[in-house]
Parts: sequence; structure tokens; C-alpha cells
Amino acid sequence: MEDLIRAWDGESVVIRHDRASGAWMFVAIHDRTLGMALGGCRLKIYPEPREGLRDAIRLAGGMTLKWAAIDFPFGGGKAVLAAPGPLDADTREAVLLRFGELVESLGGAYGTGVDLGTAPADMDVIGRRTSRVFGRSAENGGAGDPGPYTALGVFTGIRTACEAVFGAPELEGRSVLVQGLGGVGGPLARRLAEAGARVLVSDALPDRAARAAAELDAEIVAPEAVYDTECDVFAPCAIGAVLNARSIPRLRCRIVAGSANNQLDEPTDAERLHRREILYAPDFVVNAGGAIAHGALEVLGWSAAEAEARILRIGDTLGEILADAERRGEPPLLEAVSRAQRVLSAARRHAVRGAAD
Ligand code: NAD
Repeated sequence: MEDLIRAWDGESVVIRHDRASGAWMFVAIHDRTLGMALGGCRLKIYPEPREGLRDAIRLAGGMTLKWAAIDFPFGGGKAVLAAPGPLDADTREAVLLRFGELVESLGGAYGTGVDLGTAPADMDVIGRRTSRVFGRSAENGGAGDPGPYTALGVFTGIRTACEAVFGAPELEGRSVLVQGLGGVGGPLARRLAEAGARVLVSDALPDRAARAAAELDAEIVAPEAVYDTECDVFAPCAIGAVLNARSIPRLRCRIVAGSANNQLDEPTDAERLHRREILYAPDFVVNAGGAIAHGALEVLGWSAAEAEARILRIGDTLGEILADAERRGEPPLLEAVSRAQRVLSAARRHAVRGAAD
């Protein structure tokens, strides 16, 4: 694991071996220029703890980029609980409590939340040991499910992308294919239908697709036909790496904008989409709504209306990124990354000036 840490450009990694369960806990703090490191906690079975560490540092860097691209006052961090195998309910609770103690011991350097393999109920457990936790259930004072907030951010991003490509943000009559109808895709499909879009739905679970289709009067697309289906907007809201050397040549859409994390299989896929004149709305910009809601409501103490207004500004941020990318003739992804770097550099300069005064 030492080589991974040495090669990493982040601030620090805290590692704890939880002897009682055999799990490893990794807290990766990538960059706190903008504020406390805030990022979810992934609980997953890893054949080797090293793979858990690799995920933690990779995901923490992604959080720095996400917060900076939308200029929101948090730093990049992530935790991974790398379990050696399935955990029974008691062991799981004990691991989460000890993880809460670990987070508390960091004195506010890192705040945790929901990620793959964890849910609001887990945050309630962690919250028994630390106040540095977000995404708890509503009954426990948390903001609850981030999915609808993320969906709102993606929705506003789709409107902005439509304005850039078709000259108008209105969705009336636009066809939007939503891949994955879970916590984000479900509410997104509903919003799109309410806005008058022609919604196409696809899910690996046929029942889920059938339910959404019946509720929204939407067309069902078989999972294997998604990349060949003609639509104005493709919204990946299921899994990562769906945009790759095999799928991109097949796409029959003008815009890709969805919630799934790490939609590009490799960075050059942004260039592949650009060459095909398909507008790709960077995932870490348009899927930030849930993170904004949790940070705003639970850490910064904003009202629901303030948080919602801030999520709607994702559309403005994306609009600026698309305009700058267009001017430079570059894929929007490159512009989003440069924008994040500019925000971080400006904050560092400001901090240095503040220290010198
Ligand atoms: P979820 O698990 O609630 O839903 C995912 C859905 O996708 C499920 O219905 C599943 O059956 C379906 N699915 C899985 N593989 C599929 C495939 N190959 N083809 C079609 N459907 C498939 O997840 P979610 O919370 O809705 O998140 C969706 C994506 O958005 C994930 O990549 C997640 O990391 C990302 N994301 C979520 C949030 C959030 O607030 N929940 C925030 C940021 C990013």
C-alpha cells in the first residue's frame, strides 16, 4: 500500500485495521483548500485491502474536483471500509460505530456520508459516535435520501445542455433516455415527464422499467439497446464507464447528461464524444446536487429553499463551462477540470495573502 500513498498527490491517508471484524478503514483526505474534506463512506468487500485504499484515494481526488468545479466550500475526502467478506448485522453495526470514532478523532478534518454500500440508516449509526456525518435519515435530523436532489441538479443540467445544442432549454417534445431508474433516475424521469419530455426508460431490473413506463407513459428500451436508440438526450443514471470506445460510436443522441459517477471509461472518451459532436455534460458537475444538499443542509445549516436554489445554479455553472469549452474548441470535460483548478489556485493565493497580512 505504501507505493500507492507515495504516488498520490493528496494530503493524508488514515488507515485503521479493525481487528475484531478483519475490515480495513481508509480515510483519504485529498485537498482542504476550500474547506473541511467532505465525501461519502464506501462499504464493500475487497479481495485485497490495497484495492480499498486505491478506491479511497481515487474517489477523494474526485471529490476535490467536484467541490471545486461548482465552487462550494468543501475539500475532497472519501472513506472506504474494506470488508474481507459479508458482515452480519451486529458486526456491521460495530464496524460503523468504530468508524464513527475514527472520524471523530480527526477533529473535523473529514466529514463522512453515504456512498456505495451505505445508506442513511448507517449514517445514523455512525452519528452515534461523531457529529461529522451527513446524509442521516430525516428522523435523525439528516437530509435523508440525496437522490431527488441529485435528480434536480441533473435536470437543470439537461436544460442547460439543450439550450446550448438546440437553442432553447425547454424539454417539451425532447426525447430523453434515462438509463437506471433508482434513487436518481426515478425522480429524474418523473421531472422530465412533468416538463413535457418524451421519456424513454431502461433498467437492468425489468419490473422497475415496467413500473416507470406505466407511471410516466414512457417507452421501455431493453438494456442492450440503449446505445443504439435515437434520442436527444442520453442520461446515464446506473453504472460507470458506459461511455467507452465500443459504446460511443453507436450513440444516436446529441447530449449525454446523467448522474452516474465516472461515466467515461477513460479520459480520451471525452475527445471521442467531442469528435462525434455529442455534448457531454461532465458527470461531477451535473451530479453534485445530492452532495450540495447534504453539505448545505447538514453542515452549513442552510434552509431547504437556499439549498435548492444552490442546486439550480448547477445549470449556470454548466452553461459557463459549455460556453468556455465552445470558445476554446475543447471538450467540456477539459474546461470543467481547468475551472476546478482555477478555483483551487485562486483560493490558495487568497490563503497565502491572508496569512501574509
Ligand atoms: P441506485 O442503485 O438507486 O439505482 C441504480 C439503478 O440502475 C437500479 O435501478 C439498477 O437496477 C439499474 N442498473 C444497474 N445496472 C444497470 C445497467 N447495466 N443498465 C440499466 N440499468 C442498470 O443508484 P442511484 O442512487 O440512483 O445512483 C445512480 C448513479 O448515480 C450511480 O452511478 C451513483 O454513483 C450516481 N450518483 C448518485 C447520487 C445520489 O444522490 N444517489 C449522487 C451522485 C452520483
